[in-house]
Amino acid sequence: MKQYKAYCFDLDGTVYKGKDVIDTAVAYIHMLQARGIEPFYVTNNSSKTTAQIQETLRAFRIEAPATHIYSSAMATAQYVKHHYPNASVRVMGEDGIRNAAQTVGLQLVDGVEADVFVMGIDRQLTYTTLADACKTVQNGAAFVATNEDVKFPAEQYFLPGNGSLARLVQGVTGVEPTYIGKPSPVMLELIAETFGYDKSDMVMIGDNYDTDILSGIRFGIDTIHVNTGVTSTEAAYAKEQPPTMLVENMMVYAELEKE
Ligand SMILES: [Mg+2]
Repeated sequence: MKQYKAYCFDLDGTVYKGKDVIDTAVAYIHMLQARGIEPFYVTNNSSKTTAQIQETLRAFRIEAPATHIYSSAMATAQYVKHHYPNASVRVMGEDGIRNAAQTVGLQLVDGVEADVFVMGIDRQLTYTTLADACKTVQNGAAFVATNEDVKFPAEQYFLPGNGSLARLVQGVTGVEPTYIGKPSPVMLELIAETFGYDKSDMVMIGDNYDTDILSGIRFGIDTIHVNTGVTSTEAAYAKEQPPTMLVENMMVYAELEKE
């Protein structure tokens, strides 16, 4: 079995499901850390800051350095800073994206006149929030969304993701957003560049074929699909480009590694 240097884990549906831990993933992460390998965490969740993601992981018995946490919030803020320098930016979303926008120094505005509209999930949103989003885009703002996930798993339900909300704004305005989170390979690219990994050193591990696995495929690295979240093993295997490996969970993968 191949050994990698960079194990990039999706979070929701891979390491935990809402408030429930996925023990097999945590056990595998502890095994990696015992081998001296610090995993990476690559999440489309834009609602949390890096510090908040660290806290969440700590509650599930995982110690993760801030340097190894990549969120769509930080990647989106960096993308806007790079592609729209000096632009006025209206942000919809929670702490994660707001904090990231401030950290990279975006010029934030409150009104519906802005050069760029950044959309992250807002779980307190009202009709007015969505109406203002639609107004801003109709006023000509470039439309950038943190991630296109239609849904995410939380305990026994799926809940609406940012992709559902962004599609609503798209339906009203006729403008398709630029999405930054997985399946875009932007976060994996940042890891490779920052830590100097070759693509052959890296593997992306996730439950969602259309985000996690596709981001790995688009970046050109190996992928491991786990059957603990959105996409079933059968559905992932049936894709035109299936994942490199399909396992029930990461402890099954650990057993295969021993063979
Ligand atoms: Mg997931």
